[in-house]
Amino acid sequence: MAPVFATGAVVANGEVRPVAPEPPAIVELIGVTRTYGSRAAVDQVDLALLPGKLTFLVGPSGAGKTTLLKLINREIRPTSGEVWVAGIAAHRLKTTRVATLRRRVGVVFQDYKLLPRLTAMENVAFGLQVVDLRVSDQEARERALDALDAVGLGNRGGAFPNELSGGQQQRVAIARAVVAQPPVLIADEPTGNLDQETALEIMDLFEDIAAWGTAVLVATHNIDIVTRHQRRVVTLVDGRLVRDQPEGQTGRMAWLALS
Ligand code: ADP
Repeated sequence: MAPVFATGAVVANGEVRPVAPEPPAIVELIGVTRTYGSRAAVDQVDLALLPGKLTFLVGPSGAGKTTLLKLINREIRPTSGEVWVAGIAAHRLKTTRVATLRRRVGVVFQDYKLLPRLTAMENVAFGLQVVDLRVSDQEARERALDALDAVGLGNRGGAFPNELSGGQQQRVAIARAVVAQPPVLIADEPTGNLDQETALEIMDLFEDIAAWGTAVLVATHNIDIVTRHQRRVVTLVDGRLVRDQPEGQTGRMAWLALS
C-alpha cells in the first residue's frame, strides 16, 4: 500500500499525487449529554457528520434518537457538551437567534407536519419565509415551485395536503425542508407512515439530497432500508452511541440493537 503523508499526498511508483482531504464536519457533537430529570436521554455522545453523506441513526425506542435530532436543530440545548452546526454553537445559541440555525438545518418528520389550509406550494413557501424574513412573496413562490419540481411534484403545487397521498405529502415536507438549501437535513422516522415501496422512493430522494452535498441524518426503524442503502449507521442504546459503522458494512449486527 502506498504511504500516506500528513500533507495529504500519496506516493506511488515514485509519483506524488495530492489526496483530496476529507471535508470538515458540518455537524459536530462533542461530549454531549442531555438529561431529563435524573435520566440521560443522550449520554456523552461524540458525533461528526460530513457534507454529502447520508447517515442512519438507529436504536430501540427510547434510545435518544429524537433527542439527538432536537439537539442538532436547537429545539433543546445540551445539559453539557457542545453542538456545532455549520459553524454555529447551537449549545449556547439564544432563542432569539434560533432562526439563523434553522436556515441551515432542514427537518422532516414522520407525520409530515404540513399546514392543512395551505396548498403544497404555500406550505413550502411559508417554510422558507419563516426562517428568512427577507424573502419576498414572489421569490418564495418561485423557489417553492422549484423545490416541488425537484421532489417530483412540480405539477401539484396547488393541491392541499388532504388531496395528496402520504408519499406525496412527505415529498412536500421534504421540499419545505430543503427549499432554503440547508447544508444539513435531519429526518425523524420519515418513512414510518409509508408503505415499503413509497418508503424506498422517499429514501431515493434523501440519497439525491446527500449527493447535492447536504449532510443527511435519518433516524429509522426500517431495517430493510438501512440494509439496502449500505450507508454509515450510528446506533444509540440508552442514550449512548454504542456503534458507528462506516458505509458499505451494514451487516446483521446493526439489528441487534433494534429489537
Ligand atoms: P427515541 O427517539 O430513540 O425513541 P427519545 O429521544 O424520544 O428516544 O427519548 C429518549 C429518552 O428520553 C426516553 O427515555 C424518553 O422517555 C426521554 N424523554 C424524551 N423527551 C422527554 C421529555 N420532554 N421529558 C422527559 N423525558 C423525555
